[in-house]
Amino acid sequence: MISDQLIQVMKAAQTVVVLTGAGVSAESGVPTFRDALTGLWENFDPMQLATPEAFQANPKLVWDWYASRREMLSAVKPNAGHYALAALEKLYPYFYLVTQNVDSLHQAAGSKTVIELHGNLQRVCCFNKTHVAESWDDSTGVPTCATCGELLRPDVVWFGEMLPEQAIETAFTVSEAADVFISIGTSAEVQPAASLPVYALRGGATFIEINPDATTLTNRADFVLPYPSGEVLPALVAALG
Ligand code: NAD
Repeated sequence: MISDQLIQVMKAAQTVVVLTGAGVSAESGVPTFRDALTGLWENFDPMQLATPEAFQANPKLVWDWYASRREMLSAVKPNAGHYALAALEKLYPYFYLVTQNVDSLHQAAGSKTVIELHGNLQRVCCFNKTHVAESWDDSTGVPTCATCGELLRPDVVWFGEMLPEQAIETAFTVSEAADVFISIGTSAEVQPAASLPVYALRGGATFIEINPDATTLTNRADFVLPYPSGEVLPALVAALG
């Protein structure tokens, strides 16, 4: 599964950047975005649920849908892939885990340097994202912000919204500096995250892709590991000793 050449590259690296997508949480039972059989958006129209316009048109529908996702995630546990990434972090002086996921499973597994590009489903903030709410009561409808009075919403990035500035800037900076860049469980169709491996390649990184299916980035990868991340990541950590 893991070649000697790949182990040599990993052992020589000082700066490792990992980009994760929904696929890394698939083995925890969290549906991915686009996987044909179980994909979240196969059953729901994203434009009805994941845009600022959708929230303004029907805040209750959007609030309730995210509340049900939050509820579903509260029962979910990290898988072997999440734990292996937390172990991998300990092997490098400079290790950055950039994630498109909003499920907190990397943090639950013990990863320390997590850069969240698309927010976090557990956090709630006011509509313009100025204030984070620590608690709320949604028993009588969509709650409002105690500070500004706006409706509260999940602190995630919806279609058409900007990414958190500091997170994306840091992600580009560390990607350019990477010796090794590993893209895991992402279809690499959502920008700007999909550009991070390209920046890493321009900076001279070795690019590794872990995904059972080919993506638009596969033909640019130096090493392709076409296996589930929950299998290949523990094997990689074991091989690194
Ligand atoms: P995506 O659904 O577009 O792609 C998932 C990818 O994971 C696919 O390429 C698939 O082949 C791969 N995959 C499936 N099972 C895998 C496994 N066991 N191991 C490795 N790879 C596997 O997801 P994306 O690229 O992350 O992009 C879409 C968006 O989905 C992001 O904006 C993210 O915020 C959102 N999202 C997040 C979660 C989550 O937090 N867990 C869940 C669904 C969607």
